Amino acid sequence: MKRSKSEKRFIKVLLLPALLALAAAGLCSCAQRNTDYSEDLFAMDTVMSIRAIGPDAEEAVKAAVSEIRRLDSLLSTGNDSSDISAINRNKTAQTDQDTALLAFRAKEIYRLTGGAFDPTVYPVMRLWGFTDRNYQVPEEEALQAAAATVNGESLQIDGNTVSVAADQEMDLGGIAKGFTSARVIEILKQHGITSALVNLGGNVQTLGSRPDGKPWTIGIRDPKGDSAEDLIGAVTAVDLAVITSGGYERFFEEDGKTYIHIVDPKTGYPAENDLASVTVVSPDGTLADGLSTALYVMGREKAAAFWKDHSDLFDCVLIDTGGRLYVSEGIAEDFTSFTEEPVLLTK
Ligand code: ADP
Ligand code: MG
Repeated sequence: MKRSKSEKRFIKVLLLPALLALAAAGLCSCAQRNTDYSEDLFAMDTVMSIRAIGPDAEEAVKAAVSEIRRLDSLLSTGNDSSDISAINRNKTAQTDQDTALLAFRAKEIYRLTGGAFDPTVYPVMRLWGFTDRNYQVPEEEALQAAAATVNGESLQIDGNTVSVAADQEMDLGGIAKGFTSARVIEILKQHGITSALVNLGGNVQTLGSRPDGKPWTIGIRDPKGDSAEDLIGAVTAVDLAVITSGGYERFFEEDGKTYIHIVDPKTGYPAENDLASVTVVSPDGTLADGLSTALYVMGREKAAAFWKDHSDLFDCVLIDTGGRLYVSEGIAEDFTSFTEEPVLLTK
């Protein structure tokens, strides 16, 4: 094909510089690739941190942060304009679809755990002062009355309408952070991130592996330690949520007795058994969070039996009050104990 003079000129003067500019832009975006961006924030009553590695990591993390703030304002029991407050006030409310979705998941986990996880524990939490930090041991009669209202079966979800019974109040605090970490991972993925670590106050979820290709390592706190830096072991994880419930997270003492923020829905009393902490490992962040609370309520034997029946859904590390560790076989290879050899849970 023979080009005219003006055609050649066009290619030389306009097209070539345009092509060069495009190539340069391409190189530029290559140079931008794999920024490592982290942000810390305070939300849902806890310190959170998000670290993402990839192109546009900053934009991805900023989008995740604004979603965390949005979910916090929907789900917070302490915020009068949240969906949860509307449900607790009016017993039925038209909610955001995420609130309805989380309520649905809460009811599922309630059923799965035979009520050890119960999203209608709020009246009991309030009596103990866990909701406003005005901690107190309630009067027995008042506690029995509050405990009598707790029944996850009465929670109804119909489209985006969420309802509870006339005397009930709900609290999704036992799964909100796991749901949120799962959502954060989704958003980071949508932004092209393939490596991330999301830590919502000790509720950790990982995306892919570390930038060096090795799996992420998540420390498990020593329940008897003085601070979050005292670790009893660590688990490696790729594309998994690693969520721990422990009595040390929020508690108060009165007359030499300790009362923790996880309650047994059947009695209304803070869970008090042979467990000091429960770590649940699962690809499903919401489930992992709900199960960490539920297994803590169950105690060691029931928790281990529950794992045997549902080993397809999750793995776990149980730490009893004597400091003994129990690790389910699915993650035995990924777990390192910093103290004694753990007991292996097998099917
Ligand atoms: P954290 O939020 O401190 O990580 P958990 O995930 O175990 O700990 O959730 C504890 C929260 O869950 C409590 O603050 C309360 O809002 C709620 N909760 C307490 N006991 C139960 C229970 N048995 N079932 C469902 N939710 C519970
Ligand atoms: Mg939980």
